[in-house]
Amino acid sequence: MPAPSTHSTRPSLADGQTWSRSGQAQSAPASASHVSAFDPWIEVHAANLRHNAADVARLTKRPVLAVIKNNGYGLGAVNVAKVLDGQAAIAGFAVVKLQEALNLRDEGVTKPVLLMGPVDEVDLRLIVSRSIMPMVYTPIGDLLQREAARLGRSIPIHVCVDTGIGRVGVPYLSAAPLIRDLASRKGITIEGTMMTFTEDLEFDKEQRRRFSALADDLRVAGVRLGRLHAASTYTLFQHDDAAFDMVRPGMALLGIYPEARFKALGRLDLRTALALRVRVAYVKKLAAGTSAGYERAYMAKQDTWIATLPIGHTDGWPRLAAKGARVRINGRMYPVVASVSASHTIVEIGGEQTVRAGDIATLFDWQDGSRPEDVAAASAASVYDLTMHLNPLLVRRIV
Ligand SMILES: *Cc1c(COP(=O)(O)O)cnc(C)c1O
Repeated sequence: MPAPSTHSTRPSLADGQTWSRSGQAQSAPASASHVSAFDPWIEVHAANLRHNAADVARLTKRPVLAVIKNNGYGLGAVNVAKVLDGQAAIAGFAVVKLQEALNLRDEGVTKPVLLMGPVDEVDLRLIVSRSIMPMVYTPIGDLLQREAARLGRSIPIHVCVDTGIGRVGVPYLSAAPLIRDLASRKGITIEGTMMTFTEDLEFDKEQRRRFSALADDLRVAGVRLGRLHAASTYTLFQHDDAAFDMVRPGMALLGIYPEARFKALGRLDLRTALALRVRVAYVKKLAAGTSAGYERAYMAKQDTWIATLPIGHTDGWPRLAAKGARVRINGRMYPVVASVSASHTIVEIGGEQTVRAGDIATLFDWQDGSRPEDVAAASAASVYDLTMHLNPLLVRRIV
């Protein structure tokens, strides 16, 4: 039988840091009775977030509409917004879910907020009363005008044009009449006009031409379009002439290069702004010929120490991490082996017991070899899936 190591004393949470559930106030630390020291946690690196926002502004010389949809790409939309709200480079925040937009206002975020998701009449009434801008692409001029009259002030909106991505947005060929109608109404202010690139290198150029032609025609005719914006993270690396009046990145703010080759371009100096860590739950020695994991996915060829981490795919850690990802414990890298199950990950330690229960395992952070990009590559995962699938219930901690 493998000999289990004895547990170390239970690690303490009390380290003077502020803990929060995703999307909740930093000022309301989770009660220690509700958070186990063995629960995985996410660290939000405030200085790196700020650095990345400033670096995007440096490169593009444009204001930044920070996309913090999908739970702030895993960091918590409120956490990211609070860190960036005071930054001069930040023009505002864009989210997709109604609740996320409301959370930003509830938590006192002051910058403009754009809701890029669909809204019905009830939602619209609610968001404009909370100074949240709708993204508009259907003929709702009458409705907006009525709401503006009720509020007694103009409603700022962004108009979304589809130049070829084929999802939301008014098709570019029929956009002019809609935009003219919206712009002509008392009570509606077009603060921005936007499109989304397909991120197909050649077709992006055609999309840019379509958008520019539309905007030029309307502006010549005296239609106020507000700021034109289109550029996501990909665009920042791939196109020099697509920043328009404002840029709209998400992933770059987290300091993540969506494609490895982008780093070598040297255009942006991105610094990873998130980490995922968990304490080792259990360490034991497997005798040669002993298996670990479902379907006996791992077989010890010789006597081998293994560590169990209390984190699994339910937390957002990729199932395929066992195909090649490595975690860092006490400064050394160890391979994930066997299979990642819902709540457990098994790490191969080797012939010597260099790891103890209670030690901190880093699944990813900002160090070379441990970045989210490294884990995504080793797990055959998209780095977008890696961050956006992090379980919203995990504790987020601003560092
Ligand atoms: C997600 C999103 C972005 C940001 O994309 P990144 O690749 O994370 O920079 C920009 N615009 C829209 C409409 C989006 O949905």
